[in-house]
Amino acid sequence: MLVVGNWKCNPDNLTKAQELFNLIQKGIKPSENIEVIICPPFVWLIGLKMEAKGFKLGAQDCFWATKGAFTGEISPTMLKNLGCQYVILGHSERRIYLGETNEMIAKKLKTALEVGLKPILCIGETLKERQQNKVNEALKKQLAILKNQNLRSNIQNLILAYEPVWAIGTAKPCDPKDAKEVLQILKCNEFVPSYIPVIYGGSVNSQNAKEYIKAGFQGLLIGGSSLNSKEFIKIIKTLEKNNS
Ligand code: PEP
Repeated sequence: MLVVGNWKCNPDNLTKAQELFNLIQKGIKPSENIEVIICPPFVWLIGLKMEAKGFKLGAQDCFWATKGAFTGEISPTMLKNLGCQYVILGHSERRIYLGETNEMIAKKLKTALEVGLKPILCIGETLKERQQNKVNEALKKQLAILKNQNLRSNIQNLILAYEPVWAIGTAKPCDPKDAKEVLQILKCNEFVPSYIPVIYGGSVNSQNAKEYIKAGFQGLLIGGSSLNSKEFIKIIKTLEKNNS
């Protein structure tokens, strides 16, 4: 099982990032059953790498080229060389605020897979799409990037995160029954190999976390609750209890 903490654009200095990381590390022992991946902002990755004991590090994005004249970008090779194993791609906040398109995400995904990172590809419908019964259609469009033949040779490292856009940071989680329905849709998609883990993200907390695992998801992508060490530890302990 995978538990991914997405710290987004937080905290605002390295000392706070290290404090949060240390609190999390004190509260949880990484186990074979639950892989804990922390995704801090790029600038805190080095500072946290020194301290990571059994925890895995991931980035929240990367560029589609491995190096070159791309001012401000961080390449997947840089992340790999830093000891990062995972990278979140296609998060809805990047699609919304940075204008990331499926085409851009496809290029990032291809390079990330080529350099040996494990991309956590976020997909999910908007509230409007859900209300108009267009969930299937929306997800299909986002998943079409997996059709690329060049990408398919490395696809075994892919992780899929179902993150309904309307459930992210809203304290309105997707009903686990509805999430389960989407999980079936994803598992049946022609471009998603059956062995690819699918995780859930969207207002996960210690009360609802286990419901998504019961629904069949193989892990969780956690934003807000991963910034509260007590809550994050509680989520993992709940999952450990249900997993044993
Ligand atoms: C996320 O950032 O991917 C996320 C799911 O956020 P939150 O848990 O805050 O909804």
